[in-house]
Amino acid sequence: MFHRPATLDDALGIKARLGAEVTPLAGGTDLIVGLNRGQACPEEVLDLSGVADYDRIDEDNGYLLLSAGTTFARLARCDIACLAQAALSVGGPQIRNRGTIAGNLVTASPAGDGSVALLALDADVELAHAVRGRRWIKLTDFFLSYRQTALAGDELISRVRIPAPGSLAATAWYKIGKRGAVNISLVCCAVARFADGRVTVAFGSVAPVPMRAPRTELLIKDQELADEIIERAAVQAMDEVQPIDDWRSSASYRRAMCGVLTRRLLRQVRHRDGRDS
Ligand SMILES: Cc1cc2nc3c(=O)[nH]c(=O)nc-3n(C[C@H](O)[C@H](O)[C@H](O)COP(=O)(O)OP(=O)(O)OC[C@H]3O[C@@H](n4cnc5c(N)ncnc54)[C@H](O)[C@@H]3O)c2cc1C
Repeated sequence: MFHRPATLDDALGIKARLGAEVTPLAGGTDLIVGLNRGQACPEEVLDLSGVADYDRIDEDNGYLLLSAGTTFARLARCDIACLAQAALSVGGPQIRNRGTIAGNLVTASPAGDGSVALLALDADVELAHAVRGRRWIKLTDFFLSYRQTALAGDELISRVRIPAPGSLAATAWYKIGKRGAVNISLVCCAVARFADGRVTVAFGSVAPVPMRAPRTELLIKDQELADEIIERAAVQAMDEVQPIDDWRSSASYRRAMCGVLTRRLLRQVRHRDGRDS
C-alpha cells in the first residue's frame, strides 16, 4: 500500500502503527536505486514528499533547525560553508533537488557527504514517534555500525539541529573523488571552528561509518592553530581513521589524504574569521 500523508503528525501515526513494515520514501535517490538493483520491493511505502513544510530551515535561539526533508539544493544555498559545499558536491542538480538530509543520514553510507558536514557541525538529530514523542540525540551517537543507526523501526527523523552561522567562526570542506561531478568520495573531510574556540574534524569514506576524529580534536583543543600543531594533527588523523582497500582506492592512499585534508582545512579555518559564509 502507498501512503502519502500531508502532515508530519499523520506520517508519524502511520509509522507508529506499521513500524518497520512501512518504508519511508523521501527523495528516493537511495531507495529507488536500491530497488532498481534488485532489493525487495516494500509492501508498504510511506511517501514523505507531500508532508507540509518538509523542506525548510528555521533559525531558533542560536540554532538552525533543518526539517528532515531539507534538500541538498536548499542546503547548497545556506550560509555555512562546509554544509553548502558538501551539498553542492552531491550528485547533479536533479539529485540535489530530490535528495534530503534525513535520507542521507538514514542510508548511513560511510561516504555520505551531508552526514560528514553535519558531524563537523556537531549536529543533533530529532527522532520522532507518534506516542513516545520526540528525542534529540547527538549525530555522533546516531551511526552505530556499517549502515546501522539508532533510529527505531517505528520512528522517523523529524529535524536536524546545527549551530546558526553566528556561532561559527569558520568551516571548511573538501572531497577527493575520481571526477569533478556526480562523484562518490574516496575521502572527504569537514572542519569547523566554533566561535567559542572548539575545533571539530570529520571524515567520510575512511571508516564503516561517517566519523569524527576525537583524538585529533583533543590534540588541537585550546591550541592556537600554528603550523606545528596542524602538522601533529595531520599525523594523528592518519593514525585515527580506519580506511579499507576497495575498487575505488587503496587504504594507504585514503589514509595519506586524511593527513593532507586535515592540514589543508585546518589552515583554511585558521585564516578565516567571523561569520562563516
Ligand atoms: C546519481 C546519484 C549521485 C549521488 N551522489 C551522492 C553524493 O555525491 N554524495 C552523497 O552523500 N550521496 C549521494 N547520493 C545518494 C543520495 O542522493 C543521498 O544519500 C540522499 O541524501 C538520500 O536522500 P533521499 O531523500 O533521496 O532518501 P530516500 O532514497 O528516499 O531514502 C533513503 C533512506 O532513508 C529513509 N528515510 C528517508 N527519510 C526518512 C525520515 N525522515 N525518517 C526515517 N527514514 C527516512 C528511507 O526509508 C531510506 O531507507 C547520490 C545518489 C545518486 C542516485
